[in-house]
Amino acid sequence: MSHSLWHPYAQMQTQAAALKVIGGKGAHFTLESGEQLLDATCSWWCMIHGYAHPRLVSAIQKQADTLCHVMLGGLTHEPADLLSKALVRVTPPGLNHVFFSDSGSVGMEVAMKMAVQYQVQRGRKGKYRMLSLMKAYHGDTAGCMAVCDPEEGMHSLFSGFLPTHHFAPAPTAPFDATRDEVEADIKRLRDVLEAHHHEIAGLLMEPLLQAAGGLNMTSPYYVEAARALCDEFGVLLIFDEVATGFGRTGKMFAADHANVTPDIMVLSKGLTGGYLGHAATLATDEVFDAFLSEDPHHAFMHGPTFMGNPLACRVALESLAVFEEENYLDKIASLNAILRQELVEDTDLKAHPAVRDVRALGATAVIEVHDETSLEDVQAFARERGVWLRSFGRWLYTMPAYVTLDDEMRLITTTMKEWFLSAHHPLPAE
Ligand code: PMP
Repeated sequence: MSHSLWHPYAQMQTQAAALKVIGGKGAHFTLESGEQLLDATCSWWCMIHGYAHPRLVSAIQKQADTLCHVMLGGLTHEPADLLSKALVRVTPPGLNHVFFSDSGSVGMEVAMKMAVQYQVQRGRKGKYRMLSLMKAYHGDTAGCMAVCDPEEGMHSLFSGFLPTHHFAPAPTAPFDATRDEVEADIKRLRDVLEAHHHEIAGLLMEPLLQAAGGLNMTSPYYVEAARALCDEFGVLLIFDEVATGFGRTGKMFAADHANVTPDIMVLSKGLTGGYLGHAATLATDEVFDAFLSEDPHHAFMHGPTFMGNPLACRVALESLAVFEEENYLDKIASLNAILRQELVEDTDLKAHPAVRDVRALGATAVIEVHDETSLEDVQAFARERGVWLRSFGRWLYTMPAYVTLDDEMRLITTTMKEWFLSAHHPLPAE
């Protein structure tokens, strides 16, 4: 077989041929054969409006007629100007400055570089490392790989190549934990900061939901405490809201659950409704001002070719307009009610011997199993029912498009449940 197209995260020798998608509409995509699959993952969590949304498609088409691209070096244009203002408006108060780039990973690289240069220019010597959390995933570029979970992340092979950072244990208290129940997690974070703050530029976290690390959910109290600890130890708080941003956790941003403003925040995925690759790294005045000087070397020396691409900015503006005009937070709340009722509150599912935990937050739910072999073939099982599910490791999850209809959401949850509860799935050996 010729393999001119090298697929991501794929063993090209053994993997079955990828399914060919020719189009899509709403929460479904269509294969070459005409088969339609309900996308339970909204394409790595970015297609929040589903496929072929007429307003998003038309925004790109109109912009394409005017200006497809121009660099931001010494130039600007309306879509980038408007989008920066819109992002300042919708993000937590105080994030007043927006630096664009082309993907979530690059947005995170920008955030880390910004944090280090901030500390240098504020005269705080030796703060060159990051503090990250176990179970974290921040992207696949070198800088990002170095702040992913070093054991369970997929990058341990590169340990000799990557810079070393500090890690605190992943939070364990659930989303609805009491303040007291979160204390032990906070203490573990404090311990690392106490020991190493003099060399830490920034604390990175995916607030409330560590996504690719296994949909590990935690409490807003943890996020709130992280803010206080960063202030105490002179460390910048950096939120990676690449996956959590734009409603995924039930509020516009995960930060909103804790009323916290991070010093730096990164957005991507849902930013453009998934229609074009783009990212935004936002910063507070305090961070931005550290780059203002008579010295040209104090400028932020970064500039991806495609930053602020007009097509991406225009579709992001339209995505945000649809989100707000069509009350997406209400849609997300309805999806959440179904996810809770059908998965979290299903006592048979929770009691199944293969199942370790079932949890939901906003428009996300996961069935975590004890052993990943119990998820083998779930993809084929779901496909027979018209659903596209793609589990990873021990996690069978859904992150649907927000336009997913109630019945469609139920088809996804029923499929996930049936995999365990129907006769198709053998119980694990004792
Ligand atoms: N951060 C988080 C939290 C992510 O989930 C991802 C992508 N799954 C990234 C960063 C990297 O984004 P990208 O794939 O666009 O580089």
